[in-house]
Amino acid sequence: MIKRITDSSAASPGALCRLLWESMLELLYPSNIYCICCDNLIDDSRPYSLCDDCLTNLHWANERTCRCCGKILKEGYRWDICTDCSSASHSFEKGFACTEYGGAEKNMLLRFKFKEKAYYGEKLAEIMFDRIQPEELDVDLILPVPMHKRKEKRRGYNQAAILAYHLSRYMKIPFRKNILLRSRETMPMKGLGAVERRANIENAFTVSRGWDTIIKNKKILLVDDIYTTGSTADACADVLLAAGALRVYVLVFAAGANRTV
Ligand SMILES: [Zn+2]
Ligand SMILES: [Zn+2]
Repeated sequence: MIKRITDSSAASPGALCRLLWESMLELLYPSNIYCICCDNLIDDSRPYSLCDDCLTNLHWANERTCRCCGKILKEGYRWDICTDCSSASHSFEKGFACTEYGGAEKNMLLRFKFKEKAYYGEKLAEIMFDRIQPEELDVDLILPVPMHKRKEKRRGYNQAAILAYHLSRYMKIPFRKNILLRSRETMPMKGLGAVERRANIENAFTVSRGWDTIIKNKKILLVDDIYTTGSTADACADVLLAAGALRVYVLVFAAGANRTV
């Protein structure tokens, strides 16, 4: 049985009580018997612990995707690049998404982030692994988009770090949590336009002092749960490249829909 508890290297010290609590929950309610999206009863053989309905309802990125950021391109959309990427370049090399952010994806990510269901990370990382593996990317290091330490303390964990940690296990590529840091708290991005998002995230990230030797000339896979306009991924890639990284790829669980107007 897959363990429900999160590895302590991906969680803050304040999360220990939660991990103990989750260990107890694992004994009482084994994690592989409920769908991670809707709580329907499932059997142990279900892929990613999703029931049939949720597997169908998730909008998988198995159609055409933007060659820059990985957003799904709707049928009938003429170009191979999304509307955002056609009007602005990115600092990262290429992005990959597993799903388009819709109702089912939102439900799952909200539960993962705000209902202390850190163990979802293992399942979501499995989905991300199956998305990225066929790409045969040459990557040296996996880094999560960082959360400010005060916010991480409040929440108990950084969901991107949990995804990155499990992905690192599946890909057998090293993961580091404390190289890329969020040096100041930022406003929630929800509701902000592309320009406001860039301003909100400006100078929000830094590379930990002394760690630039580790990332020098490295090909980095940056991991996050959601991609919207790319402002966060670009801001992270900017500081990593400035610190000597060779290139930065981005992998997310869900990307926002392509704007077609
Ligand atoms: Zn379900
Ligand atoms: Zn794009």
